[in-house]
Amino acid sequence: MRVGIVGAGPAGVTAAVFLSRYGIDVTIFEKEEIGGLIANAWRVENLPVVFPCSGEELVAVLRKRLEESKVIVIYEEVLSVEDGVLKTKLNSYGFDKLIVATGTKPKRIEDFEVNQNVVYEFKRLPRGIGRLAIYGAGDVAFDGALKAKEMGIEEVHIFNRTDRIRAVPKLVQLALSSGVQYHSFEPVRRVEDRGDELELYTDDGRYQFEALLLCLGRVPNLPVLRGETKNLYVVGDASGNFRQLAIAMGHTTEVCMKIVHGE
Ligand SMILES: Cc1cc2nc3c(=O)[nH]c(=O)nc-3n(C[C@H](O)[C@H](O)[C@H](O)COP(=O)(O)OP(=O)(O)OC[C@H]3O[C@@H](n4cnc5c(N)ncnc54)[C@H](O)[C@@H]3O)c2cc1C
Repeated sequence: MRVGIVGAGPAGVTAAVFLSRYGIDVTIFEKEEIGGLIANAWRVENLPVVFPCSGEELVAVLRKRLEESKVIVIYEEVLSVEDGVLKTKLNSYGFDKLIVATGTKPKRIEDFEVNQNVVYEFKRLPRGIGRLAIYGAGDVAFDGALKAKEMGIEEVHIFNRTDRIRAVPKLVQLALSSGVQYHSFEPVRRVEDRGDELELYTDDGRYQFEALLLCLGRVPNLPVLRGETKNLYVVGDASGNFRQLAIAMGHTTEVCMKIVHGE
């Protein structure tokens, strides 16, 4: 049996490691880097089988496990999946079963994307900046603020459009005690490019930053899916489950068990 996996984040790597252990012929496709979204995390501490570590450290483990599995990795973006055939810009590949583990994409505010210093993932921030604005008030926003502080970014502001914080209380406390400035009920109305700086406009005033990290939620990110779906499985964050590593990996393992047992 030949299995194609799209996406080498935690879910895709879980599938690759799991299936190759059963001697199944596996190929994994990745459009960027092995490891997926978790590479951005300041600290991962909710997996009881792993000591608390940074997202980058976790990615190093995933990369190593994938290498050891001897699975073929093809660095191409999969554009469509149809009746067992994956299509990339350059090639078509046929498989008996396909696992789509393509994760999520950000909810965008296109009007704010005034230059390359407005980003949706921490790892895309420019290096060497001293002032960062973060828009959003969930785990990802507070995690990003802590990572920014750890990296020596002096001024970090979080803007929340309401007064509701959707983050683990410990992250919030740590961020606030590390000097992150938090603006409740202060939606960002406009962003302007001023060359070396970004100007942010809220109802309370104007602010200057060097970069803006937008953390306003994410939605499933699927390639075009057509035709027969019998041998097609969407796993991990792409399936719309809660955005947690353990769920992404556990869900993938359940699907792989079904594949192994021919269900
Ligand atoms: C800042 C941050 C902190 C986090 N911290 C935690 C935490 O502490 N604990 C926790 O449990 N969870 C955490 N998460 C959530 C966790 O990262 C996700 O739940 C997990 O990464 C989902 O894994 P996945 O493999 O389903 O998707 P992803 O990690 O999104 O991986 C998808 C992969 O597919 C690739 N891909 C996408 N489309 C294509 C295509 N068409 N062709 C080829 N490749 C493609 C992508 O490049 C990516 O590598 C955090 C997330 C963020 C952003």
